[in-house]
Amino acid sequence: MTKDDGRPVVDWAERPAPTSGGLRQVRLANLELVLRDLRRHGPASRAQIAARLGVTRPTLTRVAGELLELRLVREAGYEARGPGRPGTILELDGGHVFAVGAEINVDAITVIVHDLSGRERARRRRVLDARDVGPEASVRSLASLCADVVAESAGDHDGTPTVAGFVTALPGIVTLDGSLLVNAPNLGWRNVPVAVLLREALGFERAAVSIGNDANFAALAEFWRGEHAGRRHLVYVTGEVGVGGGVVADGELLLGSGGRAAELGHMVVDPSGPACSCGRHGCWEAYVGLDAFLRATGLPASGRRPEATVQQVVALLRRGDARVLRAVEELASWIGIGVANVVNLYDPELVILGGYFTHLASWILPAAHQVLEGCPIVTDQPAAELLVASKLGFRAAALGAALHAAEAVFSNPTLFGES
Ligand SMILES: [Zn+2]
Repeated sequence: MTKDDGRPVVDWAERPAPTSGGLRQVRLANLELVLRDLRRHGPASRAQIAARLGVTRPTLTRVAGELLELRLVREAGYEARGPGRPGTILELDGGHVFAVGAEINVDAITVIVHDLSGRERARRRRVLDARDVGPEASVRSLASLCADVVAESAGDHDGTPTVAGFVTALPGIVTLDGSLLVNAPNLGWRNVPVAVLLREALGFERAAVSIGNDANFAALAEFWRGEHAGRRHLVYVTGEVGVGGGVVADGELLLGSGGRAAELGHMVVDPSGPACSCGRHGCWEAYVGLDAFLRATGLPASGRRPEATVQQVVALLRRGDARVLRAVEELASWIGIGVANVVNLYDPELVILGGYFTHLASWILPAAHQVLEGCPIVTDQPAAELLVASKLGFRAAALGAALHAAEAVFSNPTLFGES
């Protein structure tokens, strides 16, 4: 059978009969659809869900039965009105299934525990100089912090919770399979199998353990939970000693061919500029990275306490310190120049500044907006709407990692339920 233009088409009669693998895929897809429907629309009867998804009642009843068995949904009373016998209301449960997000950064480790109903159960941050102690000791500290936080989160729930997913954000390039940290210059780590080390240290029986780039997870956190959640085209810029980028394009993370997409900090803005940690000259990071900015203020490098250092900068700005004000003006100008390039590259609806930029936002944004207004950018948006500061703070990456871990369970609800 062919269409008029000669290209072959496949209709139902010609499709191969589903194999057992195909049936499994259909079953998983149905479980996922019902779970996502309940998350999106809230509690509903089987009839309502079946109508929304366009599936038959018997199919929905079978799928709901399986989700009830996995304790990912529960029955919660009856429909209030409607003709005939009132239907039982189903709602998302999943309070016993945990998705854990974590972050290892230059000065601290963070753990955030979410349950599958989307509730944050606990969050903890511990000071740690990951560069000094190295990968193995950092991973052991993270595993111990995680054990504490999970135990604490389990306290307010009956029964033992299952950790279904554990995702860690790292400030570097990670392979696409989420296992190997290729290079994290600011940690001084190269080719470290962090996911393997974590799996051994955590000792979870069923959790899927993976790692990813911190800017990517921060971008996802903005997309899912940020002030402008739901914008399908956005770029997140991490403002730390290193400057990274995370791009959400049409609702999907842009990873590139090897997980190296959007290394925005190493976009050259002036080839005759200062030396960069990557060995070249005039990278964006060499102008807007935290230590580069601190050099311009005359303050010492951030070392082990970047957040405290930034608070010191804010105090000086409030006091009207002339040198720091000049440095922040210069910083804002370089941010505007870099963001203009970013907008030309990705055509986002929104560029979100994270990390230390957020603390200086009220000084940075007006001047950066002015630079953007003066650039011939491919966008019709006013600069003030295009460039904003994150409200998620330093927890953005760990939050995105936790949400990402939860998404994996939504995509395959049997992930932790089957032995
Ligand atoms: Zn560079």
